[in-house]
This record gives sequence, C-alpha cells and structure tokens, in this order.
Amino acid sequence: MKRLLTVLLTAFIPLTIMGQVFKSDTYSTPLGEITVTPIGHGSLMIAFDGKVIHIDPYGSVADYAKLPKADLILITHEHSDHFDPEAIALIRKPDTEIISTRLVAERMPGVRVVSNGETTDWDGIRIEAVPAYNIQRMRSPGVPYHPKGDGNGYVLNFGDFRLYVAGDTELIPEMKELGKIDVAFLPKMLPYTMSDDEFLEAARVVHPKALYPYHFLKADRPRLREELPGIEIR
Ligand code: ZN
Ligand code: ZN
Repeated sequence: MKRLLTVLLTAFIPLTIMGQVFKSDTYSTPLGEITVTPIGHGSLMIAFDGKVIHIDPYGSVADYAKLPKADLILITHEHSDHFDPEAIALIRKPDTEIISTRLVAERMPGVRVVSNGETTDWDGIRIEAVPAYNIQRMRSPGVPYHPKGDGNGYVLNFGDFRLYVAGDTELIPEMKELGKIDVAFLPKMLPYTMSDDEFLEAARVVHPKALYPYHFLKADRPRLREELPGIEIR
C-alpha cells in the first residue's frame, strides 16, 4: 500500500486567483495529498492537509495579497528575489512560522534559524536544510554570488515522499548525497546559478521523478525532455 501511495499523480490543476492563473500538480504522499504550485521565479506554494507553505514569496511574480495566507514560510536566502519582507507581510498571520537562515533572521524578527545540515519538524513534515552555493561563479574575485553556508536548500519529507527545493545553487557535490528525491525544483539562470548543461547534469545527479526548472529566463522543455528520459518535466 505504501508503494502505491508514493506514486505520483499528474493531475494538472489550473488555479485562478484573481485573474492570475497558476498551474498546480497534486501528488500522493504517505501523509496525504499535497498540491504544488509554482508561482514564478524562485517562488512556490505547497498546500497540505489544509495548511499552506510558501517558499521564497516574491512580490514581483505575484500579488501575494490575493494568495492564500501562509502557515509556514521557508526562505532560502537573503537576496531580494527570495527574501521579500513586503510579500511576507501580505501572507503572514500571527501564528505563521518562518524558517530561514541566520542572515535572514538578522533582518527579520521571529525567524527560526535552520542551518545547512540541520533538520527540523513542522506539523509532521521533516524539513532538512541542505547547502546551496556557488563554486565557480563569483561576484568579485574570491566572493561567490552565494557563499557556502549562507543559503539553504530544503528537502521536505512528507513521510518518505521527498520534495527538494534547491535555492540558488550550482551543481554541488552535496546533491549526490540527497538520496531519493520525488520532486525537485532546480534553478537555471546565469550568472547566479547554473548553465543549461550544468542544469542537465544536476538533474541527472538528483534524478527526481518530477522536475520543475525554476528561477530561469528561458527553459527549453522539449530539449530537457529529450535529454532527461525517465524524468517528468513540469
Ligand atoms: Zn541569490
Ligand atoms: Zn535568486
């Protein structure tokens, strides 16, 4: 039975919120159904058991005043396209929990810090903070756009159903250690994250059942489908 429950559902549900159309996918997990909605750029929303999780809400991609309020907000790092206090204010309730990095917590009160390699539990979901950083791409000599340790990727465990949100990262050795990933959001934009070829390599390393390219200017989905057989490109 457990096997069956982890099989992916591929229902594509259009969600219209005050004129903005978002496409959602619903997945079956051992903890129940989850609905995953890419909002745009680095932002996404997950609905689970009547609760809403926002990840990197960013006011330039959606009107957050019209999106469901958050029970949990996960922020990957302090850059303005991921940490947007105005968007957060629009979806924050008095009891909304915010989990992020030390650098975000320094800028916003009430943020719970979870660092690379640490794990926390929220409402039955185990959340792992994993590294997200640049190896090659530098803001200035010796200073990467994303220094190691500053930012988090997150692996959300709905039972043994694992959803990975990579954050702003290159293909890093830690991706090989992630283990089974069912759904992955991987970034694709230079100079901050990955080139097309690196993205393909990262997709092969992580090897999710379903892959969401995100944080991109252009995603050539036909090429991705051709180059990544066995991975569902959303
Ligand atoms: Zn960034
Ligand atoms: Zn970014």
